[in-house]
Amino acid sequence: MTLSEIAFLKTFTHYFLHLVFPVFIALVFFRKNWKKAYLIMLATMLVDLDHIFASPVFDPSRNSIGFHLLHSYYAIAVYFLLLFFKGNIRIVAIGLLFHMLTDFLDFNLWIH
Ligand SMILES: [Zn+2]
Repeated sequence: MTLSEIAFLKTFTHYFLHLVFPVFIALVFFRKNWKKAYLIMLATMLVDLDHIFASPVFDPSRNSIGFHLLHSYYAIAVYFLLLFFKGNIRIVAIGLLFHMLTDFLDFNLWIH
């Protein structure tokens, strides 16, 4: 594979995990309200707003996890605790944890 093919695959995987995969999570775990569950999980992408406080805002050679405030290990511990609540909070927790997993894979799965 050429470098640009790898870059394409990486970007594709990233957006697939961020935008498409939550549809499956919603359908499997929240079948009755899957559209609402999906929208809530999409909304958890707002945690990336913490990047605004970093410079540069986006740096592909930097791991978001453990760097930005809402991507810190403390924050992830809080997201984990939110899983024990019922209803929408749990959906938010799943969305946030899955977001962290996506960012983690995005940095660790590829050679850079
Ligand atoms: Zn992120």
